[in-house]
Parts: sequence; C-alpha cells; structure tokens
Amino acid sequence: MSKVHNFSAGPAILPQAAINASIEALQNFSGTGLSLLEISHRSKEYEAVVDEAVQLVKEILNLGNDYDVIFLQGGASLQFDMIPMNFLGEGKTAAYLNTGVWAGRAVKEAKMFGEVNVLASSEDKNFSYLPKDFTIPADAAYFHCTSNNTIYGTEMFEFPNSPVPMICDMSSDIFSRPFDASKFDMIYAGAQKNMGPAGTTLVIIKKSLLEKANAKVPTMLNYKIHVDNGSMYNTPSVFAIFVCMHTLRWIKSMGLEAMEIRNKAKADLLYAEIDRNPLFVGTVAAEDRSRMNVNFVLNDKSLEEAFLKLCKERNLSGLKGHRSVGGLRASLYNALELESVQALVTAMQDFEKANS
Ligand SMILES: *Cc1c(COP(=O)(O)O)cnc(C)c1O
Repeated sequence: MSKVHNFSAGPAILPQAAINASIEALQNFSGTGLSLLEISHRSKEYEAVVDEAVQLVKEILNLGNDYDVIFLQGGASLQFDMIPMNFLGEGKTAAYLNTGVWAGRAVKEAKMFGEVNVLASSEDKNFSYLPKDFTIPADAAYFHCTSNNTIYGTEMFEFPNSPVPMICDMSSDIFSRPFDASKFDMIYAGAQKNMGPAGTTLVIIKKSLLEKANAKVPTMLNYKIHVDNGSMYNTPSVFAIFVCMHTLRWIKSMGLEAMEIRNKAKADLLYAEIDRNPLFVGTVAAEDRSRMNVNFVLNDKSLEEAFLKLCKERNLSGLKGHRSVGGLRASLYNALELESVQALVTAMQDFEKANS
C-alpha cells in the first residue's frame, strides 16, 4: 500500500520507531517472552519503562528536582476537574483564559468547584485570535491557559510572567519546540496529539504547588497520591506509557531545537500556499497561527467536497475540520514529515489549476 499522509488532529501520527517498538513488544516485551499486554505493571521490566519515560520528560524539558512527572488516566479532560479540586481553595478565585473549546471546558469544570475569573476570551470572533490584553490578579489561586487551541488553530508562543502559579494545557503542542518550562507550576497533556496513543495524560507538577494542594480530595483525583506512588497507585495505562516512552526517545534524539525547525518549515510551507492560492483562505489571525493545527477554508464553500475527494485520492488523510468549525484542518504534529505537507500543497495547486 502506498504511503498515507496522516493529518489527523488526534489520535494522531506517531514516529515509526515507536510503532515498530510497539509491534515487537506486543509479541515479546523486553525479552520476557510475554506480550506487553499481559505483563504486570509492577514487573521490573515495566517499571523501567515508566522510570525512563519520566526521566526523558525531565531531560527534554530541563526540569529540575523541584518538579514531579506522572502519567494519569482520564484524558486531559479529567485535568479540568482535578486542577480546581486540588488547587482552587475555599474562598479563592482561579483565573482562566478562554481561547477555545478545550479552554472553555476547563472554565466550565472549574466553576463547579469555586469562583472563576475569565480574564479574557476570544469567543467574540469564533476563537480566531489570542487575547493579549489581560492582567493576572495577584490574589488568584492560579492562572490557567491553553498553549495550543487544537480545534481553532491558534498557538501561544509567549507566556505571561504570572504572579500566581501558572498551569497550562499543552496537549497539542508539547515537545514541538523549546520553551522555558520553569515558568510553569503545572503542565499537562493528553498523550494522543503529540506524544503517544490515547489512554494516558502527562502531568508535570512543581513540588511547591503540590504542597498547597487541598488534602480532602478523593484518592484517585489527588495529585499527591499519584506522585507519591510514582504513577502506580493503581494500574496505569501500561501500553500507552510504553508508546510514549518510545516517542520521547525519538524526540530526545531529535532535540527540541531541531523539532522546532522541522515544525516551522512544515507550517511555513502550508501557510504560504494558503496565502498564495486564490481558492483558499486561512481562518486565524496571522500572528497567532498555530504550527500544529492549520485551519483554512475554501473561498467557495461548494468546492470543499471536491477538494476533500482529491485529498482522499492522493492519500491525504484527516483533513476535515472539527465538526464545530467546519472547513479544513491540517495537523502537522512532530512525527509528520515535510514530504506530507509538500503532497498537500501539490494537491492544492493542482486543485487550483483544475478550478480556474
Ligand atoms: C484533545 C484536547 C483535550 C482533550 O483531551 P482528552 O484526552 O480527549 O480529554 C484537551 N485540551 C486540548 C488542548 C486538546 O487538544
């Protein structure tokens, strides 16, 4: 079968090395003669996998010993609840930015546990830009933001200097470029966009924030319990963490600087074609364009179906926009090769010729 170019927004493309290692481990995990799917998570061979995954996260992001790294279940969505349950104390207010569907869900969940101050929102223009004019109150319990808005295609390249603990949902752009992790008190990411398969969520948490956590939280929703038990309070997502570990090995071998160059080259190529080609138009403010999720539409909406059909013929998969925005979305996560973007650009150019 010829190569399928995978532009899916998530679950999404993974490095071939991680897929190959997974196939092998399904047959014979780490020389045990058993499948990865049928071993104890407390076997020493598997504990080594979790330890290495944690270590790789720390190395890649240059995290000091003042941070803990854990792998949880429940998706990034469960973090929307765990964060206020653990950190939004009695009588306190949490500060949020509302920059899209996921950010909005984080706001909605936090409101169930306490006062929420939405500092700024871009809902007035269907989340097509990032609000920049806001002040984080010094008495907030924490400040929450979303670094990359997967559905709308906006990405934060700069983060404020927060006077209160800064918590960021980095589900769809973590490990896509270097950034100063020490600015954040907590970072979380569902694995299935840029790090692994569905089923596990990476949580990076500063010890000083953990110390402030509410102790009266149900056990499974209590960060401290999971940290104290090294992600093994209960059975973790054995397979998903294994795939993450191999993706992290690949990310480390590339380095975040090289990853950024690679991701920028892909995004620049596609945005340049969107801007040049009279049939297409981008939907996001130029300065906030995401390198991970590129949203665009056809000027003549009636051509959309024909364009998606051409994409299918060319093995360009996963380009239909999210059901809440429509149009087209090309997700260019770490593992996607430049050649896949070139194939998409060629299809756009051929479509232009056929329709002018
Ligand atoms: C996909 C996504 C989520 C939701 O992740 P789940 O693991 O499905 O709960 C949250 N935030 C962002 C930024 C996402 O892209």
